[in-house]
This record gives sequence, C-alpha cells and structure tokens, in this order.
Amino acid sequence: MPALKEVLEKTVREGELYEPLGPTASGERAAGWVHCYACGHDCKIPDGQAGVCKVRFNRGGKLFVPWGYAGSLQCDPIEKKPFFHAVPGALAFSLGMLGCDLHCSYCQNWVTSQALRDPDAVSPPMRVTPEELVEEAVRLGARAIVSTYNEPLITSEWAVAIFKEAKRAGLLTGYVSNGNATPRVLEYLRPWVDLYKVDLKSFDDRHYRQLGGRIAPILDSIRRIHAMGFWLEIVTLLIPGFNDSDDELTRLAEFLSGISPDIPWHVTAFHKDYKMTDPDNTPAETLLRAAEIGKRAGLRFVYAGNLPGYVGDRECTFCPQCGAMLVDRYGYHIRGYRLTPAGACPDCGTKIPGRWEREFGGQLASVPFLPRARRRREPLATIAPNCGT
Ligand code: SF4
Repeated sequence: MPALKEVLEKTVREGELYEPLGPTASGERAAGWVHCYACGHDCKIPDGQAGVCKVRFNRGGKLFVPWGYAGSLQCDPIEKKPFFHAVPGALAFSLGMLGCDLHCSYCQNWVTSQALRDPDAVSPPMRVTPEELVEEAVRLGARAIVSTYNEPLITSEWAVAIFKEAKRAGLLTGYVSNGNATPRVLEYLRPWVDLYKVDLKSFDDRHYRQLGGRIAPILDSIRRIHAMGFWLEIVTLLIPGFNDSDDELTRLAEFLSGISPDIPWHVTAFHKDYKMTDPDNTPAETLLRAAEIGKRAGLRFVYAGNLPGYVGDRECTFCPQCGAMLVDRYGYHIRGYRLTPAGACPDCGTKIPGRWEREFGGQLASVPFLPRARRRREPLATIAPNCGT
C-alpha cells in the first residue's frame, strides 16, 4: 500500500511559478536548484528536495507541482467562506487540495492542510479533471468555484486550470487563503481569480513566526490584492490570549481601514481544535468588542461570525450612510435582501462595494453538503495509514 507522499508525487506536472537558479561562485549553491515564488516563503530548492509546503518539489532541475486531484470537495453557502459582499445566498463549489505553507496549531482544516506533516492527517485524494469539477458545479447550480480548505497559493497552477474552465462556464472564482503571496503569483492569478479572502491571523510578527510564516509578505499582499482589483474580504479568527488584545486588534483594523474602509472585516470565533486546546472558545463578548474596535478604526463593514444568535445584528449588512439594513443574515442563511440591481441602498442610493448580482437569486443551501461526485468517486489509491511524513 503506497504512502500518501508517494501517491502525491505521481499526481504532478511541471509548474509555471518558478525559475531555475544557476550555481553560485562561492559554491554555496550547485547547479540544478530552482526558485519557487508561488508563496511568500520564496523557497530556493535543491534537486531532490521539496519546498516548505512539501507538495512542490525539484526533480532534475524542474519544479513539479500538484495536478489532477482533489483532497476534498464540498458545496458551501458562499457566506461560509466567508464572502458577504459577493453574490449573497449563492452556492460556492469548494475544492480543497492537500498541504499548506504554514502549520497553525489551531487549524480547522488540518486533515487536508497538514496531510504531509502530521501522520494523523490522512485524506485520500480523488482524481478529477477541471471539466468534471466545473460540470458538477454547474449541475448543482453553483455561482462560484472556490479553492479552500488548504492554502490555495501552493497549488496555483492547478487552480488556474480549473478557473479557466469555470470562467468559460460563467462562474465566479475565489481563493480562501492565508495571504502569504508574492507579487508574481498575484499577477499570475489576477486574470482568473475574482474573489480573494485573506485570513489575517494576527498583527504581530512573533505570532506569525509561531505559525511558520512572517507578517511582512502577508501585509504587502493584502495591499496588492486590493490595489489589483480582486474583491477582497479579511477574516481574523479571534483566539483568547493569542490575538484578541485591544491593542493588536486596533492596529490590525487601522491597517485595513488605511487601505480602504470598504474592506469587509470578519471577526470570527475560535473553538478548540487540532493541537490548540488550551485557550477557551471565543465568547460572543470578544467578537462584539472586536467589531466595535473595527468600527472605531473606520471600517464600514465589520461582521461577527461563528456564533449566530449571540451577536445580535452583527452578521447583517447595513448601509454605512443611512443605516438601513440591506442583507439580513443568520449564520449562513439569508433572511432578507434589499440591495438594488445596481448594488445600492434602496433608501438613500449609496453604492455598496462588492460583487452583486442584479437581483437576489434565492439561496440553494444554508448548510454545507457533499456533491454527488465526491460520494461516488474512488480515491486515487488506498493510502497506508499513519504514513504522511
Ligand atoms: S509554494 Fe511556497 S512553500 Fe511551497 S515550494 Fe513554493 S515558495 Fe516554497
């Protein structure tokens, strides 16, 4: 029975987001190295080795990248991603791959994201083609196809192949990402990705180093994603004692509002998961405190998530000009929709930033469900247990 690593090494093709590196005069680097710029780690990889993400590797001076499989497939309300200013109520056909460039101890998708680091994370991949995925998304009535559940940047070539097909079918496309990008990968994605959610986990570089990253490339990417015209929403999972101080949240919110007060900021509740079981679950009071901080910093759209029923109307969209309620939500469920066909407040005419449809298309599902394709699809191989080194 093959190990997951062996199976994944066969479902690859040569990547596009890399360049060969010549040997250095000092002899520090031999011939055959490559530079991968798919994420902010900017790995320089010798022949025979993999990058930090473990799913992109150098074989014979060429970078090979994941291709032709899915680690998980699910249909989600687009509010779960969360995108609140993009086609409310729509179904987002959600594709996950395996691996990540960070290793957050509280990851809520660790079974897929840590599949090559943690022997307990075993998620058998399924063989799929872009055509099959898009056909299934359209059949189910999805309006968007989204790369999510692990870090999409590390499988960007495969995502773009799917998104090209999705665009032909008239679907919106999206990334649910940690934002650890590079200018070059964002240029590569821009023609094919409409919606970009960044999980801004902290405003402290020391915290990011604990998670395996650095804050600088992430803040730079957030500025660029907004400037390049992706539709950007930001999420911060509030973890008691880790990132929920007034000072850190104020600096984070002021950073976002300095880019644009129109960037929606979602503050969401942590629950004990994976290896982080010490902090308590986030209480509603913390979400409401963070939401006030966001408003004080000048953000016009701040949402409190993961605790429906405990945060009042903080899940709803209000007109920042006249205060009218425009989208009434409870969890992922849309209870009311009042935007005009032009995406404006019907009471005062203020334009609301986002990617709106001419009219509300109803809601196909307010809870996630599995597509038929996933239920009937055979795994690529039977994976040996506890072998994901
Ligand atoms: S995607 Fe990021 S972590 Fe993976 S090889 Fe490329 S630069 Fe390194």
